[in-house]
Amino acid sequence: MDQTVLFRLAVFATLLLVMGTWEAILPYRRGEGQARAGRWLTNFALMICGAALSRFTTGAAMIIAASYAQARGWGLLPLLHLPAPVAVLLAIIGLDCAVYWQHRFTHMFDVLWRFHRVHHVDPGFDISTAVRFHPLEIAISAAYKACFVVILGADAWAVVIYETLLSSFAVFNHGNVQLPRLLDQALRGLFVTPNMHRVHHSAVMDETNSNYGNILSVWDRVFASYREKTREDDRDMMIGLIEFRDSESQSLAGSLFLPFRREPARGNQQEPGKSGS
Ligand SMILES: [Zn+2]
Repeated sequence: MDQTVLFRLAVFATLLLVMGTWEAILPYRRGEGQARAGRWLTNFALMICGAALSRFTTGAAMIIAASYAQARGWGLLPLLHLPAPVAVLLAIIGLDCAVYWQHRFTHMFDVLWRFHRVHHVDPGFDISTAVRFHPLEIAISAAYKACFVVILGADAWAVVIYETLLSSFAVFNHGNVQLPRLLDQALRGLFVTPNMHRVHHSAVMDETNSNYGNILSVWDRVFASYREKTREDDRDMMIGLIEFRDSESQSLAGSLFLPFRREPARGNQQEPGKSGS
């Protein structure tokens, strides 16, 4: 196996262990322990399905795109002739901005929301939510990111560092962990925190359609999608999607089929695919 893949897996596994221990000792929402076994089974099974599909489709697309672009001098960053560390840093920032918009697009367009709602259907919020994605959304995401690798002219190291940061922040941001308020506020100045991302998993739709950031919190502030907190106390608020709370939506087979299901009415709330953001 490629050493960079091993490195990313080692970082990911270590972070799962650290965050899982933090959740067990200092959970933010007390009720998340209920029904956890079933949720974790589905969420981690989806992760394995996603990894298997990626292995045979777009899994290496970003690295291949980086090598291809680098060999031909394609992209914006090579035009600037920057020192290598600066170019890597700018590539990471550029990719994070592109993925902010990718996430926002998944809430704007119905065809994309159908896949992304598999992530939002989870009625709980913990480290396992970080890996709950439909395999096709992961494959589409890799192809999208590969396009921006070429546009930016990001080199392979920037891709490896960015992907490691992205999966690390995904686990951190979905952590059901207590974080001192002052530390949360200080971190939020630059980075997405669990308290910030939990707003995005609220069952209230205009709260779901906010806080799209993955690593840097700046994009939500710049593009006017930042929300400080939920209206309801986020220790007790409903998480997930009101229209998909049946047991079928929570199973592995139900999750894989969810993009193709008719969406039940959700009362007078805006539907994400039609709400603009
Ligand atoms: Zn989302």
